[in-house]
Amino acid sequence: MAKQDQSRVGTVEDADRYAWERRGTFEVAEGVYRIPLPLPNDGLAAVNVYALLEGDGVALIDAGWALGDSRTHLEEGLAAIDRDLGSIRRVLVTHIHRDHYEQSVVLQREFGTHVALGEGERPSLERIIDQHEGTDDTHPMSRMMRLAGADDLLEELAEGRRRAEAEGRVDHPLVALPDHWLTDDEVIEVGGRRLSVVRTPGHTQGHVVFVDHDNGLLFAGDHILPHITPSIGLEQVPVESPLADYLSSLALVRGMEDLQMLPAHGPVRPTTHDRIDELLVHHEQRLRASAKAVADGHATTYAVARALPWTRRERRFDDLDAFNRMLAVNETAAHLDVLVRQEDLGVVEVDGVRYYAP
Ligand SMILES: [Zn+2]
Repeated sequence: MAKQDQSRVGTVEDADRYAWERRGTFEVAEGVYRIPLPLPNDGLAAVNVYALLEGDGVALIDAGWALGDSRTHLEEGLAAIDRDLGSIRRVLVTHIHRDHYEQSVVLQREFGTHVALGEGERPSLERIIDQHEGTDDTHPMSRMMRLAGADDLLEELAEGRRRAEAEGRVDHPLVALPDHWLTDDEVIEVGGRRLSVVRTPGHTQGHVVFVDHDNGLLFAGDHILPHITPSIGLEQVPVESPLADYLSSLALVRGMEDLQMLPAHGPVRPTTHDRIDELLVHHEQRLRASAKAVADGHATTYAVARALPWTRRERRFDDLDAFNRMLAVNETAAHLDVLVRQEDLGVVEVDGVRYYAP
Protein backbone atom coordinates (compact mmCIF):
# COMPACT_ATOMS: atom_id res chain seq x y z
CA MET A 1 0.00 0.00 0.00
CA ALA A 2 1.29 3.43 -0.80
CA LYS A 3 0.53 6.63 0.97
CA GLN A 4 -2.97 7.73 0.28
CA ASP A 5 -4.13 11.01 -1.12
CA GLN A 6 -7.82 10.51 -1.19
CA SER A 7 -9.10 13.78 -2.60
CA ARG A 8 -10.47 12.96 -6.05
CA VAL A 9 -11.68 16.42 -7.04
CA GLY A 10 -10.72 16.83 -10.67
CA THR A 11 -8.37 19.50 -11.94
CA VAL A 12 -6.82 19.92 -15.38
CA GLU A 13 -3.72 18.07 -14.28
CA ASP A 14 -5.92 15.31 -12.87
CA ALA A 15 -7.47 14.49 -16.23
CA ASP A 16 -4.29 12.53 -16.98
CA ARG A 17 -3.63 11.69 -13.37
CA TYR A 18 -6.37 9.08 -13.15
CA ALA A 19 -6.42 7.89 -16.76
CA TRP A 20 -3.93 5.11 -15.96
CA GLU A 21 -6.54 3.34 -13.78
CA ARG A 22 -8.70 2.53 -16.83
CA ARG A 23 -9.05 -1.22 -17.26
CA GLY A 24 -7.34 -2.83 -20.22
CA THR A 25 -4.02 -4.16 -21.47
CA PHE A 26 -1.45 -1.55 -22.46
CA GLU A 27 1.79 -2.43 -24.23
CA VAL A 28 4.52 -0.32 -22.62
CA ALA A 29 7.57 -1.92 -24.25
CA GLU A 30 7.97 -4.77 -26.69
CA GLY A 31 6.40 -7.83 -25.04
CA VAL A 32 5.64 -5.96 -21.81
CA TYR A 33 2.03 -5.15 -20.91
CA ARG A 34 0.64 -3.00 -18.14
CA ILE A 35 -2.61 -4.36 -16.70
CA PRO A 36 -4.18 -2.13 -13.99
CA LEU A 37 -6.18 -4.06 -11.38
CA PRO A 38 -8.72 -2.54 -8.97
CA LEU A 39 -8.17 -2.11 -5.21
CA PRO A 40 -10.81 -2.13 -2.48
CA ASN A 41 -10.04 1.12 -0.64
CA ASP A 42 -10.84 4.72 -1.56
CA GLY A 43 -7.26 5.93 -1.44
CA LEU A 44 -5.57 4.26 -4.36
CA ALA A 45 -7.91 2.94 -7.02
CA ALA A 46 -5.60 0.54 -8.82
CA VAL A 47 -2.31 -1.30 -8.92
CA ASN A 48 -0.40 -1.99 -12.13
CA VAL A 49 0.78 -5.49 -12.77
CA TYR A 50 3.15 -6.02 -15.67
CA ALA A 51 2.85 -9.08 -17.88
CA LEU A 52 6.03 -10.15 -19.70
CA LEU A 53 5.73 -12.64 -22.51
CA GLU A 54 7.69 -15.81 -21.85
CA GLY A 55 7.31 -18.38 -24.63
CA ASP A 56 3.64 -19.31 -24.80
CA GLY A 57 3.28 -18.29 -21.15
CA VAL A 58 3.74 -15.10 -19.24
CA ALA A 59 5.53 -13.82 -16.15
CA LEU A 60 3.91 -11.21 -13.92
CA ILE A 61 5.53 -8.49 -11.91
CA ASP A 62 3.21 -8.09 -8.90
CA ALA A 63 -0.20 -9.71 -8.87
CA GLY A 64 -2.71 -7.41 -7.20
CA TRP A 65 -5.06 -7.74 -4.24
CA ALA A 66 -7.07 -10.98 -4.20
CA LEU A 67 -10.53 -9.67 -5.09
CA GLY A 68 -13.15 -10.95 -7.51
CA ASP A 69 -12.91 -7.85 -9.70
CA SER A 70 -9.15 -7.93 -9.70
CA ARG A 71 -9.16 -11.53 -10.89
CA THR A 72 -11.65 -10.73 -13.65
CA HIS A 73 -9.64 -7.76 -14.86
CA LEU A 74 -6.50 -9.87 -14.84
CA GLU A 75 -8.21 -12.64 -16.83
CA GLU A 76 -9.47 -10.12 -19.38
CA GLY A 77 -6.12 -8.37 -19.49
CA LEU A 78 -4.33 -11.64 -20.23
CA ALA A 79 -6.95 -12.73 -22.78
CA ALA A 80 -5.99 -9.66 -24.83
CA ILE A 81 -2.53 -11.21 -25.28
CA ASP A 82 -3.86 -14.76 -25.73
CA ARG A 83 -2.95 -15.90 -22.25
CA ASP A 84 -4.94 -16.99 -19.21
CA LEU A 85 -4.36 -17.38 -15.48
CA GLY A 86 -2.98 -20.88 -16.04
CA SER A 87 -0.31 -19.52 -18.39
CA ILE A 88 1.24 -17.38 -15.66
CA ARG A 89 4.48 -19.24 -15.05
CA ARG A 90 5.68 -17.08 -12.22
CA VAL A 91 5.09 -13.93 -10.28
CA LEU A 92 7.97 -11.69 -9.28
CA VAL A 93 6.68 -9.66 -6.35
CA THR A 94 8.22 -6.27 -5.52
CA HIS A 95 7.12 -6.30 -1.88
CA ILE A 96 4.87 -7.85 0.68
CA HIS A 97 2.04 -5.30 0.74
CA ARG A 98 -1.26 -6.91 0.04
CA ASP A 99 -2.05 -4.95 -3.14
CA HIS A 100 1.09 -6.41 -4.74
CA TYR A 101 1.39 -9.83 -3.17
CA GLU A 102 -1.94 -11.35 -2.17
CA GLN A 103 -3.22 -12.52 -5.55
CA SER A 104 0.04 -14.39 -6.14
CA VAL A 105 -0.89 -16.59 -3.17
CA VAL A 106 -4.14 -17.51 -4.94
CA LEU A 107 -2.30 -18.27 -8.19
CA GLN A 108 0.23 -20.36 -6.30
CA ARG A 109 -2.55 -22.40 -4.65
CA GLU A 110 -4.72 -22.88 -7.72
CA PHE A 111 -2.21 -23.22 -10.52
CA GLY A 112 1.06 -23.96 -8.77
CA THR A 113 2.42 -20.67 -10.07
CA HIS A 114 5.99 -20.04 -8.94
CA VAL A 115 6.16 -17.01 -6.64
CA ALA A 116 9.32 -15.06 -5.83
CA LEU A 117 9.66 -12.33 -3.18
CA GLY A 118 12.62 -10.33 -1.83
CA GLU A 119 14.39 -12.15 1.00
CA GLY A 120 14.25 -8.99 3.11
CA GLU A 121 10.49 -9.57 3.47
CA ARG A 122 11.00 -12.86 5.24
CA PRO A 123 10.77 -11.53 8.85
CA SER A 124 7.57 -9.58 8.07
CA LEU A 125 5.98 -12.48 6.24
CA GLU A 126 6.84 -14.94 9.00
CA ARG A 127 5.35 -12.59 11.53
CA ILE A 128 2.11 -12.30 9.55
CA ILE A 129 1.93 -16.07 9.17
CA ASP A 130 2.50 -16.44 12.93
CA GLN A 131 -0.09 -14.16 14.27
CA HIS A 132 -1.86 -11.94 11.78
CA GLU A 133 -1.53 -8.26 12.26
CA GLY A 134 -3.21 -6.10 14.82
CA THR A 135 -2.80 -3.01 16.90
CA ASP A 136 -1.42 -5.14 19.70
CA ASP A 137 1.28 -3.78 21.99
CA THR A 138 4.12 -5.53 20.27
CA HIS A 139 3.21 -4.29 16.80
CA PRO A 140 5.85 -1.81 15.59
CA MET A 141 3.18 0.74 14.64
CA SER A 142 1.81 0.65 18.21
CA ARG A 143 5.29 1.06 19.62
CA MET A 144 6.03 3.89 17.20
CA MET A 145 2.84 5.74 18.17
CA ARG A 146 3.56 5.39 21.91
CA LEU A 147 7.03 6.84 21.43
CA ALA A 148 5.42 9.58 19.33
CA GLY A 149 3.11 10.56 22.18
CA ALA A 150 0.08 9.64 20.05
CA ASP A 151 -1.77 7.47 22.61
CA ASP A 152 -5.15 8.96 21.74
CA LEU A 153 -4.73 8.10 18.06
CA LEU A 154 -3.57 4.61 19.00
CA GLU A 155 -6.67 4.16 21.12
CA GLU A 156 -8.89 5.45 18.29
CA LEU A 157 -7.38 2.91 15.87
CA ALA A 158 -7.72 0.10 18.42
CA GLU A 159 -11.35 1.04 18.98
CA GLY A 160 -12.01 1.01 15.21
CA ARG A 161 -10.41 -2.38 15.02
CA ARG A 162 -12.42 -3.80 17.93
CA ARG A 163 -15.59 -2.57 16.24
CA ALA A 164 -14.55 -4.11 12.91
CA GLU A 165 -13.74 -7.43 14.63
CA ALA A 166 -17.08 -7.42 16.44
CA GLU A 167 -18.92 -6.75 13.18
CA GLY A 168 -16.93 -9.40 11.34
CA ARG A 169 -15.45 -6.82 8.95
CA VAL A 170 -11.80 -7.71 9.53
CA ASP A 171 -10.47 -9.55 6.58
CA HIS A 172 -7.01 -10.97 7.03
CA PRO A 173 -4.71 -11.14 4.02
CA LEU A 174 -3.96 -14.49 2.43
CA VAL A 175 -0.34 -15.37 2.99
CA ALA A 176 1.99 -18.19 2.09
CA LEU A 177 5.71 -18.62 1.78
CA PRO A 178 7.06 -17.87 -1.70
CA ASP A 179 8.75 -20.59 -3.73
CA HIS A 180 11.87 -18.50 -3.97
CA TRP A 181 13.48 -15.70 -1.97
CA LEU A 182 15.05 -13.14 -4.30
CA THR A 183 18.54 -11.98 -3.44
CA ASP A 184 20.24 -8.73 -4.28
CA ASP A 185 21.96 -8.72 -7.70
CA GLU A 186 20.32 -11.96 -8.75
CA VAL A 187 19.62 -11.99 -12.50
CA ILE A 188 16.43 -13.63 -13.72
CA GLU A 189 15.86 -14.66 -17.32
CA VAL A 190 12.33 -14.01 -18.48
CA GLY A 191 11.57 -14.76 -22.12
CA GLY A 192 15.05 -13.83 -23.30
CA ARG A 193 15.05 -10.72 -21.13
CA ARG A 194 17.49 -10.33 -18.24
CA LEU A 195 16.01 -8.78 -15.10
CA SER A 196 18.40 -7.72 -12.36
CA VAL A 197 16.98 -7.84 -8.85
CA VAL A 198 17.96 -4.74 -6.89
CA ARG A 199 17.20 -4.46 -3.21
CA THR A 200 15.59 -1.08 -2.43
CA PRO A 201 14.69 -1.07 1.29
CA GLY A 202 12.62 1.83 2.59
CA HIS A 203 8.99 1.46 1.60
CA THR A 204 9.43 -2.02 3.09
CA GLN A 205 12.65 -3.72 4.21
CA GLY A 206 12.49 -6.34 1.50
CA HIS A 207 11.32 -4.16 -1.38
CA VAL A 208 13.04 -4.99 -4.67
CA VAL A 209 12.93 -3.43 -8.11
CA PHE A 210 13.63 -5.27 -11.35
CA VAL A 211 15.93 -3.64 -13.87
CA ASP A 212 16.06 -4.59 -17.53
CA HIS A 213 19.28 -2.76 -18.41
CA ASP A 214 19.31 -3.97 -22.02
CA ASN A 215 15.96 -2.35 -22.72
CA GLY A 216 16.20 0.55 -20.28
CA LEU A 217 13.26 -0.48 -18.08
CA LEU A 218 12.75 -0.16 -14.35
CA PHE A 219 9.91 -2.17 -12.80
CA ALA A 220 9.70 0.15 -9.82
CA GLY A 221 7.03 -1.34 -7.53
CA ASP A 222 6.33 1.33 -4.93
CA HIS A 223 9.93 2.50 -4.70
CA ILE A 224 9.30 5.43 -7.05
CA LEU A 225 5.78 6.53 -7.89
CA PRO A 226 4.91 9.36 -10.29
CA HIS A 227 2.27 11.17 -8.20
CA ILE A 228 2.64 10.17 -4.59
CA THR A 229 5.35 9.75 -2.02
CA PRO A 230 5.64 6.12 -0.92
CA SER A 231 4.97 5.50 2.76
CA ILE A 232 8.06 4.50 4.70
CA GLY A 233 8.47 1.44 6.89
CA LEU A 234 4.82 0.46 7.16
CA GLU A 235 5.45 -3.16 8.07
CA GLN A 236 5.33 -5.89 10.63
CA VAL A 237 8.79 -5.79 12.11
CA PRO A 238 10.55 -2.72 13.45
CA VAL A 239 13.20 -1.17 11.23
CA GLU A 240 15.86 1.03 12.72
CA SER A 241 15.76 3.85 10.21
CA PRO A 242 13.49 3.20 7.23
CA LEU A 243 13.82 6.72 5.83
CA ALA A 244 17.61 6.57 5.90
CA ASP A 245 17.29 3.25 4.04
CA TYR A 246 14.85 4.76 1.59
CA LEU A 247 17.07 7.76 0.81
CA SER A 248 20.01 5.39 0.19
CA SER A 249 17.84 3.27 -2.10
CA LEU A 250 16.82 6.39 -4.05
CA ALA A 251 20.48 7.34 -4.41
CA LEU A 252 21.28 3.81 -5.60
CA VAL A 253 18.69 3.92 -8.38
CA ARG A 254 19.58 7.55 -9.21
CA GLY A 255 23.12 6.28 -9.81
CA MET A 256 21.94 3.99 -12.60
CA GLU A 257 21.42 5.12 -16.18
CA ASP A 258 18.12 6.94 -16.73
CA LEU A 259 15.42 4.32 -17.26
CA GLN A 260 11.81 4.17 -18.28
CA MET A 261 9.79 4.05 -15.05
CA LEU A 262 7.13 1.34 -14.78
CA PRO A 263 5.48 2.08 -11.43
CA ALA A 264 2.93 0.02 -9.50
CA HIS A 265 0.59 2.99 -9.09
CA GLY A 266 0.35 5.66 -11.76
CA PRO A 267 1.24 6.06 -15.43
CA VAL A 268 4.47 4.93 -17.07
CA ARG A 269 7.03 7.73 -17.31
CA PRO A 270 10.05 8.06 -19.66
CA THR A 271 12.51 8.91 -16.88
CA THR A 272 13.44 7.76 -13.40
CA HIS A 273 15.95 10.52 -12.71
CA ASP A 274 13.46 13.41 -12.72
CA ARG A 275 11.11 11.76 -10.27
CA ILE A 276 13.91 10.67 -7.94
CA ASP A 277 15.20 14.25 -7.88
CA GLU A 278 11.70 15.47 -6.97
CA LEU A 279 11.42 12.89 -4.20
CA LEU A 280 14.82 13.87 -2.80
CA VAL A 281 13.75 17.54 -2.78
CA HIS A 282 10.47 16.59 -1.13
CA HIS A 283 12.21 14.77 1.71
CA GLU A 284 14.73 17.57 2.12
CA GLN A 285 11.83 20.03 2.50
CA ARG A 286 10.05 17.77 4.98
CA LEU A 287 13.26 17.42 6.99
CA ARG A 288 13.61 21.20 7.12
CA ALA A 289 9.95 21.72 8.01
CA SER A 290 10.20 19.09 10.77
CA ALA A 291 13.33 20.70 12.20
CA LYS A 292 11.59 24.08 12.16
CA ALA A 293 8.52 22.69 13.95
CA VAL A 294 10.80 21.36 16.69
CA ALA A 295 12.55 24.74 16.90
CA ASP A 296 9.08 26.30 17.27
CA GLY A 297 8.54 24.20 20.38
CA HIS A 298 6.71 21.11 19.09
CA ALA A 299 8.59 18.52 21.09
CA THR A 300 6.97 15.15 20.35
CA THR A 301 6.53 13.38 17.02
CA TYR A 302 2.78 13.69 17.39
CA ALA A 303 3.01 17.45 18.00
CA VAL A 304 5.30 17.89 14.98
CA ALA A 305 2.96 15.82 12.77
CA ARG A 306 0.03 18.01 13.82
CA ALA A 307 2.00 21.17 13.04
CA LEU A 308 2.82 20.15 9.45
CA PRO A 309 0.58 20.22 6.35
CA TRP A 310 -0.18 16.82 4.75
CA THR A 311 -0.55 15.41 1.24
CA ARG A 312 0.19 17.43 -1.84
CA ARG A 313 -2.99 19.36 -1.12
CA GLU A 314 -1.54 20.61 2.18
CA ARG A 315 -4.36 19.29 4.32
CA ARG A 316 -4.56 19.77 8.08
CA PHE A 317 -3.56 16.76 10.13
CA ASP A 318 -6.88 16.70 11.96
CA ASP A 319 -8.77 16.52 8.65
CA LEU A 320 -7.14 13.19 7.75
CA ASP A 321 -8.80 9.89 8.64
CA ALA A 322 -7.28 7.82 11.45
CA PHE A 323 -5.29 5.55 9.13
CA ASN A 324 -3.75 8.49 7.30
CA ARG A 325 -3.01 10.23 10.62
CA MET A 326 -1.11 7.09 11.61
CA LEU A 327 0.83 7.22 8.32
CA ALA A 328 1.55 10.91 8.98
CA VAL A 329 2.87 10.19 12.49
CA ASN A 330 4.95 7.32 11.12
CA GLU A 331 6.43 9.52 8.43
CA THR A 332 7.17 12.31 10.90
CA ALA A 333 8.94 9.82 13.18
CA ALA A 334 11.07 8.76 10.19
CA HIS A 335 12.05 12.36 9.42
CA LEU A 336 12.87 13.20 13.04
CA ASP A 337 14.98 10.05 13.24
CA VAL A 338 17.03 11.17 10.24
CA LEU A 339 17.47 14.63 11.79
CA VAL A 340 18.77 12.99 14.98
CA ARG A 341 21.15 10.83 12.94
CA GLN A 342 22.40 13.94 11.19
CA GLU A 343 22.85 15.52 14.63
CA ASP A 344 20.49 18.35 13.71
CA LEU A 345 18.27 17.44 16.65
CA GLY A 346 18.69 15.90 20.08
CA VAL A 347 16.25 13.43 21.59
CA VAL A 348 15.46 12.18 25.09
CA GLU A 349 13.00 9.49 26.09
CA VAL A 350 10.86 10.21 29.17
CA ASP A 351 8.19 7.75 30.35
CA GLY A 352 8.17 5.98 26.99
CA VAL A 353 7.74 9.15 24.90
CA ARG A 354 10.45 10.80 22.81
CA TYR A 355 11.07 14.54 23.14
CA TYR A 356 13.09 16.39 20.53
CA ALA A 357 15.04 19.62 20.86
CA PRO A 358 17.25 21.63 18.46
ZN1 LIG B 1 3.27 -0.84 -0.99
